Amino acid sequence: MSMQNFIDEEKIINLLEKHKTSDKKFITDILAKCQDINHQGLSLEETAALLQNTDPETEQRIFKTAKEIKKRIYGNRIVLFAPLYVSNACVNNCTYCGFRIDNKKLVRKTLNKEEINKETKTLTEMGHKRLLMVYGEFDYDMGWVADTIQEAYGVKSEPSGEIRRINVNMAPLSMENFKAIKTANIGTYQCFQETYSTKTYKEVHPSGPKADFSWRLYAMHRAMEAGIDDVGMGVLYGLSNYKFDTLGLLMHCQQLEKDMGVGPHTISFPRIEEAMGSEMSYNPPHKISDNELRRIIAISRLAVPYTGMILSTRESAELRKELLEYGISQISAASRVYPGSYNAAKVNQNDTQQFTVHDPRSLDDVIYDMVTTLNYIPSFCTGCYRKGRTGDHFMGLAKTNFMSSFCTPNGILTFAEYLRDYASPKTKEAGKKLIDKLMKDGRNKLFEDSLCKVQTGESDVYL
Ligand code: SAM
Ligand code: SF4
Repeated sequence: MSMQNFIDEEKIINLLEKHKTSDKKFITDILAKCQDINHQGLSLEETAALLQNTDPETEQRIFKTAKEIKKRIYGNRIVLFAPLYVSNACVNNCTYCGFRIDNKKLVRKTLNKEEINKETKTLTEMGHKRLLMVYGEFDYDMGWVADTIQEAYGVKSEPSGEIRRINVNMAPLSMENFKAIKTANIGTYQCFQETYSTKTYKEVHPSGPKADFSWRLYAMHRAMEAGIDDVGMGVLYGLSNYKFDTLGLLMHCQQLEKDMGVGPHTISFPRIEEAMGSEMSYNPPHKISDNELRRIIAISRLAVPYTGMILSTRESAELRKELLEYGISQISAASRVYPGSYNAAKVNQNDTQQFTVHDPRSLDDVIYDMVTTLNYIPSFCTGCYRKGRTGDHFMGLAKTNFMSSFCTPNGILTFAEYLRDYASPKTKEAGKKLIDKLMKDGRNKLFEDSLCKVQTGESDVYL
């Protein structure tokens, strides 16, 4: 595979320049187009125009349209997961990260099988069913990586504790190595390009394998060629101009769709947070405000309406709640961000964690809040992956409104299982009320029978 850089920086700069002064009529037409039931996404130029808008009233219309699309396509379900940090050992020197090799104060830790088992068990005992396993980069053996994943899948705890989908966030691999980790049954392969500006990329990745921009840029192509259907992308906001990077990400999505037939399954929206051992993380060169993040998320929802959008506990509880409405469809909860942290006596703020967590609430508190203030259904669903609805098959279905036929009922089924086995009394009561209310809206017989199965003790029921 040729590794030519397909991010056309000049084109992005020209588009941003062309729409420097907001064109109200052009934006009005774009927003009208977004409201069409068949809306499939935006072009680079349309996205550039929205990013360049400076009119406050138009901005409110962008937010409102994003909210409507989010509701229409995703209904009121939100997928929940937790990260599991397997290792903070790393050979790279990313200037923004606490795990960088030059951070000599960091206590390095790579979990052994027993520790992975213990961490996973703790997460299953909270009620988590989906994990994101996170690895620093070092010369690891693929057999070892596959074993760490298998170990986590193997954990069972009472009453219905188990992990049903494991996604991974790790450095780019060769196609052969992607094939090797695919055998461990991974879900989404996630890897953030961090920035699409080659100049900034070079500055913030001074050494180590990550310094190779193209090797990372083609990671998704290799993963897909190796048979991993679902891939997740992201920009690390704060490194470079956010408008440039958002368009770079969209260009990356389009190239993947062109070459591999399908774009990314998810996009994540990390912002640089303070990390001990990284001076720049305290003062990022292109720090973005809450409102800029809000705009990025709303505009991305319009640009790629069917792509899952993920927000982590890097953001505060209040902001996360709001951003769920503008487009986010998956969030992590109760996260701790260093190896062994779920079993640490107290959260170690300084010497081991990757960055500062701004939403430290428990899974139950996140769920209670989501249910009572937003009427959202927390979902632990893993049905699609296990029924083979992945990659282009998933996207094909997503575009025909199947989310409301599968994702919502499956979300309710997994939520009912959570309420039965893990919820606190107040969450149980609030959750039951929400489910009763949703059932009144009319559901089909198959769904009602499935819910009855969960309520009478059966686990892992999905359509
Ligand atoms: N080592 C692998 C890599 O870099 O791709 C995967 C693990 S790395 C811990 C996961 C992501 O954390 C990175 O891609 C980066 O976007 C993010 N990250 C690093 N430092 C951060 C910081 N200070 N604040 C927020 N996110 C950060
Ligand atoms: Fe290592 Fe990833 Fe952190 Fe860079 S971002 S130092 S590669 S863990």
